[in-house]
Amino acid sequence: MDEKQYAESLLPVDPQLEQVRTSIRDQQMHDISVPAGYGKLLTLLVRMTGAKAVLEIGALGGYSGICLARGLADGGRLTSLELREDYIQLAKNNVSRAGFGECVEYRAGEALESLKQLYAEGRRFDFFFIDADKGNYPNYLDWALKLALPGAVIAGDNAFMKGKVYQDQYEGNSVKAMRTFNQRMLNDERLEGVLLPAYDGLAVARVKAGS
Ligand code: SAH
Ligand code: MG
Repeated sequence: MDEKQYAESLLPVDPQLEQVRTSIRDQQMHDISVPAGYGKLLTLLVRMTGAKAVLEIGALGGYSGICLARGLADGGRLTSLELREDYIQLAKNNVSRAGFGECVEYRAGEALESLKQLYAEGRRFDFFFIDADKGNYPNYLDWALKLALPGAVIAGDNAFMKGKVYQDQYEGNSVKAMRTFNQRMLNDERLEGVLLPAYDGLAVARVKAGS
């Protein structure tokens, strides 16, 4: 057993979330949902920040969506952006089955388009979870900063890209983009951030008030 397995082994069984994984595999989809402990952390982060307007980029089958929705304060809402209509259908089913159908809104298509639209509609958010195409992470961060309420929290998954991000021989566009994202999460003057060497790397930052 290693640290990760030990930590995960202490988590109570969660039939609701297990069902989401089963539904993803049943569709012959690759289950790249966040691990259980990571999902729990998302719930806690949303709860601890008292977030009421959460934005997720990358829904897949709704696993992280349920975790985020669980942490919502009364009257809180999750808006989730997803490229594929079929994934949205699956996520909607799963989120509804988990009892959050009423507080989750999905937007289909390129996330960059949806972000532009949300901005134009005047929507603002106090929590962001970025977990879609890695090459766009710096763009997603730009949009998060534009859409952020003061003190908003931004979390980004897969900050290590399975180790590629800190190995020089990898020079693909998405690796480069992730390096830029991580650098900015920890060094942008408008942010106060940290990169946690847990799971596949979790970057978390808070948007400073007055940014
Ligand atoms: N957050 C999910 C996993 C997301 S996997 C969870 O942990 O449960 C990444 C998702 O991002 C996939 O569903 C993929 O279809 C979506 N995606 C990839 N590129 C995208 C884009 N350009 N715009 C919107 N969604 C995108
Ligand atoms: Mg991920």
